[in-house]
Amino acid sequence: MIGMFGMEIFKMTTGDLLLTGQTESHTYVFQESFRVHQDLIKPLRALEAEARNAGFQFQVVSAFRSFQKQVDIWNAKTEGKLPVLDEQGVPLSTEKLSSHELMEAILKWSALPGTSRHHWGTDLDVIDGAGLREGDRVRLVPEEFSGNGPFAALHLWLDQHLSRFGFFRPYRMDRGGVRPERWHISYAPLAEKFLEQLTEEKVAQALESSNLILKKEALQNLKSIFQTYVKNIDPV
Ligand SMILES: [Zn+2]
Repeated sequence: MIGMFGMEIFKMTTGDLLLTGQTESHTYVFQESFRVHQDLIKPLRALEAEARNAGFQFQVVSAFRSFQKQVDIWNAKTEGKLPVLDEQGVPLSTEKLSSHELMEAILKWSALPGTSRHHWGTDLDVIDGAGLREGDRVRLVPEEFSGNGPFAALHLWLDQHLSRFGFFRPYRMDRGGVRPERWHISYAPLAEKFLEQLTEEKVAQALESSNLILKKEALQNLKSIFQTYVKNIDPV
């Protein structure tokens, strides 16, 4: 069978479903309301305990995210129901943008569904719960994580200790793709393998049967999206 962009449709394996966020069978509950890849439970608990000993409250705010959840976020941004941010993290007015410009703006902060590292259960957004005050809403913007920001000290500590537990920061530097996301950490032993296995064909297949807005635009630009946003990460 040939899909709408001429790519051959093949049967998706369980591994392909994992790579593109279409199953959570490989995940396990962590910190009550989050799911992570089952192999992360041990290193995460160890990291959490060591952070606690150092006076921090290592708190997950996002972990496994399904393909459909990512579609919902993406669609909400295209429809103006969630803000689209500029490179500095300031909400952008999107009415005058072309489809292509809108897609590029969204990609700076939100992965194309099927390509999110959060699909794998290996990647997490983390804050210092001890830095939160009553009524605070976590925004995941750079100023919370630098200078006098409430989560800056935990992340300085993580700079020193992450790698001992197998974690690294894939969005550390500005590489012209995803904006630096200091809150985002990744479990290298699994994530490196999954990134290698993820292909444009697998993502295209997941997208074709989805209700993604800007689907045609995304499929036509898949190669460059892979180069600029998916494979373009900081090394371990
Ligand atoms: Zn993240």
